[in-house]
Amino acid sequence: MFELSAVPWVTQDTMPTDAELESMYDAMNPPEARLPFATFSPGRALPPGPCAAATLDTFDPSDLDDDSLVDHIGSWERLIGWAQARQAIAMAEFGRRRPAEDGLRWDRKGFAADELAPALRCAPQTASSRLAIATEVTSRFPATMKAWRDGTIDSTKVRAIVDTICAFDDDRVLAAEQALYPNAETQTAGQLRAKLARIALKLDPNTAEQRSREAYADRRVLVTPSSDGMSELWALLPAAGAQRLRATLDAHARASAGDGRSSDQLRADALVDLADIAADSLPPAAARQAQVQVTVAATTLLGLDDDPAELAGYGPITAGLARRIAGDATWRRLLTDPATGALLDYGRTTYQPPAALADQVRARDRVCRFPGCRRSARSADLDHTVRYPDGPTAAGNLAALCRRHHRLKHEGGWQLAQKPGGSLLWTTPGGGHTYRTEPDPLDDPAPF
Ligand SMILES: [Zn+2]
Repeated sequence: MFELSAVPWVTQDTMPTDAELESMYDAMNPPEARLPFATFSPGRALPPGPCAAATLDTFDPSDLDDDSLVDHIGSWERLIGWAQARQAIAMAEFGRRRPAEDGLRWDRKGFAADELAPALRCAPQTASSRLAIATEVTSRFPATMKAWRDGTIDSTKVRAIVDTICAFDDDRVLAAEQALYPNAETQTAGQLRAKLARIALKLDPNTAEQRSREAYADRRVLVTPSSDGMSELWALLPAAGAQRLRATLDAHARASAGDGRSSDQLRADALVDLADIAADSLPPAAARQAQVQVTVAATTLLGLDDDPAELAGYGPITAGLARRIAGDATWRRLLTDPATGALLDYGRTTYQPPAALADQVRARDRVCRFPGCRRSARSADLDHTVRYPDGPTAAGNLAALCRRHHRLKHEGGWQLAQKPGGSLLWTTPGGGHTYRTEPDPLDDPAPF
């Protein structure tokens, strides 16, 4: 989906040849000074850096005995930590060039993370979290930063440390680091988290209530696509609310027992049924947004073939599953021509007649069209790529953008162009990078 149009610091002219790299490496690391691999031990892995990378790369793992192979793997692990730390330093520098309005929370204000996400090939929310951690650790966590650069801790531990103690003032952060090292370098992430929890309570017992309030503000629900037509639903809930939900699901399960379903299956079905009950209480316009869209070839729906269908926000599903859910009025059906994948007809099992154009654009885009963003097009804004009335209100000038990326387009200095077929070209505020996002074709072309 992403296209890197330019890597400005590496060009054909400046890129050294392999031979030049080898001679640079030999100059930095003469053969007589290199460690024979037999002398490696976990405590004596090569200090991470470009020389370690080049040395490790000369070994074929299949040539190493078991002990050396374990040391080899450990050395790569240190190198990964080292590289992550160097990247974090660069990210923190980028963050300084795009200050957020409140100084820290890139997920709320400012668009630095959105600019990094396509380069990191991750979702903007992930980039935002990595940027926040990079900024914190480089500015306020000297011991953690040193361990990271030495490759003795990795990004998972860094995240645990920063998440737990970044709310402390600088003096307490330093005291916490004193208590953490050097043990943090040999502990597992789980052991480290337990230690962090004890340190946090000891250093600041009076803020438990405040932390509890902050944790409450962090409550959320996530849906993650899994395989085989299934998804995982994850929720971080207040303890009392979670117990209430569980008791309700148990009661529903008991009331429906006896039809051959297991208690686990009954509870899972009861949770989905709760969504229908909640949707029934919505006003019609909101209920329309609560519908889920399944795109299926007309021939598949009629049972003439078994081509995969598409569940919006999830991905491909089997023909059988599509036929089962397409018959249910709580789903919105979109029929496609099996030969072209083009939309033939909008299902009319909706609460209100759809605004055909909005539906067409949302069906085409399915998710926000910013690189990497997965927010559903159902609740997204429809942005005029070229501002109305200079640009028409037509599919070729409209794109689904979530509220955040709609703001980014208007306030963040990005340039956006739309090409025939719905391709979007996003150009960064500095003009140095352009990323292309395509609407996913509703159906993959036939493989033969
Ligand atoms: Zn978005």
